[in-house]
Amino acid sequence: MTARFDNLMMSYPLTLTHFFERSRRLFAKKTIATRVPGRPLFRYTYADFAERTMRLAGALATLGIRRGDRVATFAWNSHRHLELYWAAPLSGAVLHTLNIRLSPSDLTYIINHAGDSTIFVDASLWPVIAGIRDALPTVRRIVIMPDGVAGATETPTEHPEYEALVAGAEPVREWPALAETDAAGMCYTSGTTGHPKGVVYTHRAMFLHCLAEATADLFGLSENDRILHIVPMFHANSWCLPYSAVMVGADQIFAGANIQPPDICRLIQAEKVTFTGAVPTVWIAIKELCEKEGYDISSLRTIAIGGSAAPRSLQQAYAKNFGVQMSHAWGMTEMTPLGTVTRLKSYMEDWSEEKKYDVYSRVGYASVGVDVRIVDDSGAELPWDGECMGELQVRGPWVVASYYDNPESADRFTADGWFRTGDVATIDAEGYVQITDRTKDLIKSGGEWVSSVDVENLIMSHPKVLEAAVIAVPHPKWVERPLACVVPKPGSALEPSEIIEFLRPQLARWALPDAVEIIDAVPKTSVGKFDKKVLRERYKSWTPRQA
Ligand code: AMP
Repeated sequence: MTARFDNLMMSYPLTLTHFFERSRRLFAKKTIATRVPGRPLFRYTYADFAERTMRLAGALATLGIRRGDRVATFAWNSHRHLELYWAAPLSGAVLHTLNIRLSPSDLTYIINHAGDSTIFVDASLWPVIAGIRDALPTVRRIVIMPDGVAGATETPTEHPEYEALVAGAEPVREWPALAETDAAGMCYTSGTTGHPKGVVYTHRAMFLHCLAEATADLFGLSENDRILHIVPMFHANSWCLPYSAVMVGADQIFAGANIQPPDICRLIQAEKVTFTGAVPTVWIAIKELCEKEGYDISSLRTIAIGGSAAPRSLQQAYAKNFGVQMSHAWGMTEMTPLGTVTRLKSYMEDWSEEKKYDVYSRVGYASVGVDVRIVDDSGAELPWDGECMGELQVRGPWVVASYYDNPESADRFTADGWFRTGDVATIDAEGYVQITDRTKDLIKSGGEWVSSVDVENLIMSHPKVLEAAVIAVPHPKWVERPLACVVPKPGSALEPSEIIEFLRPQLARWALPDAVEIIDAVPKTSVGKFDKKVLRERYKSWTPRQA
C-alpha cells in the first residue's frame, strides 16, 4: 500500500503576528523605555505597548493604509518606532525604515522608488522631510511624532500628530490573516555605488531570523535580558533586535534622539543592560570613555559588534578591562541582517589566549539557516583551508532573492541560487569566516593582495591609536600601494614612523603602508562605518615618496 503523507502537520504561517500575540499574553508586565533628552526615561509595560500598537493599527486603517502599502518611518530609536515596527506589518502593510542621515536626493529617490504612501516623522527631523515634500508624489500622508527634542517646535499643524492619532483610534482586535510570504518590511542598502537598492523582508524571513538570532550560539537572547537598542532602527532592522526582543519578552531600552557615547554608558550603568550591539566605531568611543570616567558596564553579558571588522585589540580590551566578551557578527542589509557570529567551540575553551583571539577576530561560522561558500573569479568553489581567498556567497531563508524593482542588479545572484555578497573572505577548516575586505577595498600591490582590514586592525592595536583606515593609492610601479590614515588618541603625540616601525615586524613587506597620514577623524558613513570612499577621493592624487 502507498503511504499517504498529506496533511500531517498544520501549515501554520510563520508571521510576526504569532510573536506579538504570544508576547502580549505572556510578558504583559515586562518593560520598555525610551531615553528622552534632558528628561527621565519614558517607561511603559508590554501591556501598554500591545494596546497602543493595536490602536496604531486601527489608526493606520483610518488613514486608508491597505495591505501592501509602504509605511515609512523617519525616526530615532524609540517605543513609538517599535509600535510602528509591529503595527505596520501586522496590518499587512510594509514598514519602510528611512535612513535619517541620507542626503535629500537619496531620500527622495528611495521614497519615490519604494512608492511610500505615508511617512511617520520624528518632530526634530521634520525639516529634512519638509525640504523634499514637494518631490514626493506618492506620499499621501505625514504623521508627526513628538520625540522630545528641545526646540523641535516648528512642526506643521496640518499633519496629524501621533499621540492624538493613537489616542483617538479604535484598537484592532483581530489581525488580518497573512501569508508568511507577505512583505513585512523594507530597507535600502547604503548604496556605495549607484542608487541605493531596496531589500524587502517577508514575515517568514523575519520569523526564522529572529528564532536563529535568539539561539545560544548567536546572541542567546531570552526573557531575562535587558536589551539596549543603539543600532539605528533604520539600519538593517536594527539587526532585527526589536523583533527578537519582543519575541523573547526581554525588557527593552531605546536610545532616543541624538544619542552620544556618554548617554550610552549612563544607560548601560543605570538600566543594568545585559545585551546591546553597535558598530565598532561606537565601541571604540565607549571604551575610551569607560576607561577615563569609570562607568560600570559589568551588567553586560555580551556586546554584539559588527557592521565592519571588530579589531582584535578592542575585543581583548573589553574582555580584560570590563569582563565582557564581545560577539563579533557579520551580516548585511540583504540578510535581514545576520549571517555569522563568532563563538568558541567547546574544545577551544582551553586554547591559549592568542589562539582564542585568532577565532574571535574572525566573524564566526554560519548561523543555522545560512549556507556560506567562497568562490574564485570563475565561480569555482574554494576549499575551507583558511588560506584561499574568494568572494563570499550565501543563501538561506532570510537572504534576499532579488532587489526590489531593480532588474539591473540581477548579476548579484548566481545561476545556482546564491547571493554574491561582494565581500572577500577565507573560511578555515572549522568553518570560521574571515572577512578580508569588500571587493572594492582590497589593495593589489604588484600582484599581491593586501587586506586593508588586517592592516587596520594591527594599527588599531597600537596604544596611541584611536582609529585607522587603510586605503589603496595609485602607484606608478606597483599599481596600488596601501596608505594608512591614522587618528591618534586624544593627547597622544604620534609620529608616522612609530606606526611603520610597529608594523614592520608584523607584516609582509608588500603589505607595509608606504606612508601614514595623521588625520583628525576617519570619515564615517551614515551608519557609522569607516567611509573609505571619502578617503580615497581625498588621497587620489597622493604621490609616493619612493618609486
Ligand atoms: P550593511 O548592509 O550596510 O550592513 O553592510 C554590509 C557590509 O558590511 C558587509 O557586506 C560587509 O562588507 C560589512 N560588514 C558587516 N559586518 C562586518 C564584520 N563583522 N567585519 C567586516 N565587515 C563587516
